[in-house]
Amino acid sequence: GVHYEPVDVAPRRRDRFAGGATAPTATGCPSGGAFRNAVDTDPAVSAHRAWARGIVGPDSGFVGVQAPEITSVEAIDAAVARAARAQQAWAAVAPADRARVLRAAAVRLEARRTDLVTAMVHEPGKTVAEADPEVSEAVDFANYYAQSAEELEHVEGATFSPDGVTLVTPPWNFPVAIPAGGVLSALAAGSAVLAKPAPPTPRCFEIAIDAVHEALAEVAPEIGLDTEVARDIVHFVRVPDGDLGQHLVTHDDVARVILTGSIETAELFAAWRPERPVLAETSGKNALVVTPSADLDLAVADLVKSAFGHAGQKCSAASLVILVGSVGDPSTETGKRFRRQLVDAVRSLSVGGPTELSTVMGPLTEPAQGKLLRALTTLEASETWLVKPRRLDAEAAAAGIDPERLWSPGLRDGVARGSFFHLTEVFGPVLGIMTAKDLDEALRLQNQVSFGLTAGIHSLDDDEIATWLDRVEAGNVYVNRHITGAIVQRQSFGGWKASSVGPGAKAGGPNYVGQLGAWADDAAVV
Ligand code: GLU
Repeated sequence: GVHYEPVDVAPRRRDRFAGGATAPTATGCPSGGAFRNAVDTDPAVSAHRAWARGIVGPDSGFVGVQAPEITSVEAIDAAVARAARAQQAWAAVAPADRARVLRAAAVRLEARRTDLVTAMVHEPGKTVAEADPEVSEAVDFANYYAQSAEELEHVEGATFSPDGVTLVTPPWNFPVAIPAGGVLSALAAGSAVLAKPAPPTPRCFEIAIDAVHEALAEVAPEIGLDTEVARDIVHFVRVPDGDLGQHLVTHDDVARVILTGSIETAELFAAWRPERPVLAETSGKNALVVTPSADLDLAVADLVKSAFGHAGQKCSAASLVILVGSVGDPSTETGKRFRRQLVDAVRSLSVGGPTELSTVMGPLTEPAQGKLLRALTTLEASETWLVKPRRLDAEAAAAGIDPERLWSPGLRDGVARGSFFHLTEVFGPVLGIMTAKDLDEALRLQNQVSFGLTAGIHSLDDDEIATWLDRVEAGNVYVNRHITGAIVQRQSFGGWKASSVGPGAKAGGPNYVGQLGAWADDAAVV
């Protein structure tokens, strides 16, 4: 058989609930299991939409963040206190009514699509083709978690109570979808929210929060919720990292933290909050395996998309390709052809400022430094450049951005087992080639990495696919598909091994909301 359908394997981690309650099961989904993001990812459509709406270009009308930065412990305490006061009222709202707020938020987010895409182009430097589907993902989260809220009521014999005030601290690489997903899941559970933006992308989060506030204001009168209280259910707290950030994360009245970020940040948060819940999605060092049976044209296209989309700044990005047997052997026709096609494809990516519609790969959000700078500039003894990254000073000057942010993509060959590039997440536009004599060796190389977020295989052989699915250690595994761009409900997203901290279900999937609280057996409650 030929497999062209994306395959999502059930959560690799067991979904766990306190109190032994039955986990709610996902009910049928009105859209038949394919939310908007599944069909809304055509770059041509996105670019056309951008052009038609004047998102790009000098007259884009981008406005920076409006909320002032919070600069004192007192101001943080005041925001937490207001959220804590609203907590009870929000938890008392029936799940079906909370779902109404979430569905209204979906409509409001869609209505702000232009503003959200514009902010993503101007703050982190996303291309329109990357930013536009991210709005769809945020909308998907709102509708999906609305459904999850409703399901909380239908668990027999057990009653759910939310964690309480929840701090959502997202990263800058998906500055709309990930923050929206965190906030909306906590709201679905019945928790009040403190929304702390990543420092490079405050406006992206602020617009999403505005949309949620609009939804709360709209629905509050219909569900008997005081409008003043409704405003306090979600707080946008622009707190800088450092001491003030630590004060917020360790605050006594913050019951739960939902973090997406680096493994270093997750470990720090866990140490700061011993015994208190932190749910964290963290880093990845993801590989795509290509076997001799694969459709090589498709493999090249999917690799380039996975490795260089948003300049490789995705936790889900392909950082390694592991070529099996003849595909990896440059002395064979197949091996020669594959490298040639891959080199051509990487060279063909046009790099530039994000407001140019001709740009396929945009800038880095922050200047290259540390591990990424090393990966862009330095080879190990076994390695050669098939495509050497260059800092694009002239293009950066034309686009008005820091030259350390604009690099052409890199392709390094001969990455050795156990080397820096094999095992280290670099989070940028560099793809490394490894070779394996057979699938067994490829799996060993893939699983040697401490992380386990995404993984892919390109193969048209059923046995190879089955073997690989059985043994690969990653939360999201894809067959004959790019390994980025998980779709809400269809491919719930979350890691395994060092890619997640704290037990739990995957984002955009069953039981995610149900883990943001406690379950009590009704039999035990009098
Ligand atoms: N959900 C995104 C994807 O599937 C990745 C999110 C991340 O980079 O943290 O590509």
